[in-house]
Amino acid sequence: MSTIVLTGKNGAGKDTRLDKFMKGREDRFQVLAMSNLLRKVRETDPELWERIDAIMKAGDLVPDDIILSIVAKELESATKTVICNGFPRTAAQAAAMVAMGHVPDAVVELHVDDEVVVQRAKDRIICSKCKKPYTLNDFNPPKVEGVCDDCGAPLVKRDDDEESIVRKRLAQYNEQTPPILKTLIEAGAEFHKIDNNAHSAEDSFKNVMCMY
Ligand SMILES: [Zn+2]
Repeated sequence: MSTIVLTGKNGAGKDTRLDKFMKGREDRFQVLAMSNLLRKVRETDPELWERIDAIMKAGDLVPDDIILSIVAKELESATKTVICNGFPRTAAQAAAMVAMGHVPDAVVELHVDDEVVVQRAKDRIICSKCKKPYTLNDFNPPKVEGVCDDCGAPLVKRDDDEESIVRKRLAQYNEQTPPILKTLIEAGAEFHKIDNNAHSAEDSFKNVMCMY
């Protein structure tokens, strides 16, 4: 089965793009995300879940060996092209993935410039109740200013859209990502960088993903 590692800055529109892409394609692709995997562990492996739960409740990160064993199991049992979203998170995880023989077929980076991410965060508002996102510009405005289309609750800024927090996250991504990509590409993964600066990546994203 093919494996694709999908990466992109927080705010690059990765999850939105992926959600749209997956509609109607569930028979050919499956998404591997840590949140889904942990949910699966909770449902199928209570013993392991107990360990993980204790670690997370203590505020610690789940260690790589546990994460990697869960991911490996998932990749080995896959019957569709797997899109890894949010994994590997570190160069060590990438190296371990390669060492286990799970070299991804492709690494796809949905790219937006830092300044575009900062501007999108400035423009973003969300519903205080149902969390539906809107923009202050005319990309995705609410029908009535300051009010949610769906539930009528007031729209607010998200705390983590604060510029200093956004810039800190960007710095983290820009530092952590190149070594991850380097490890996977050197191991043989094909690299695709897709420009999403103008929210225009829909076709190129689809074309690249469907190669695998
Ligand atoms: Zn709402």
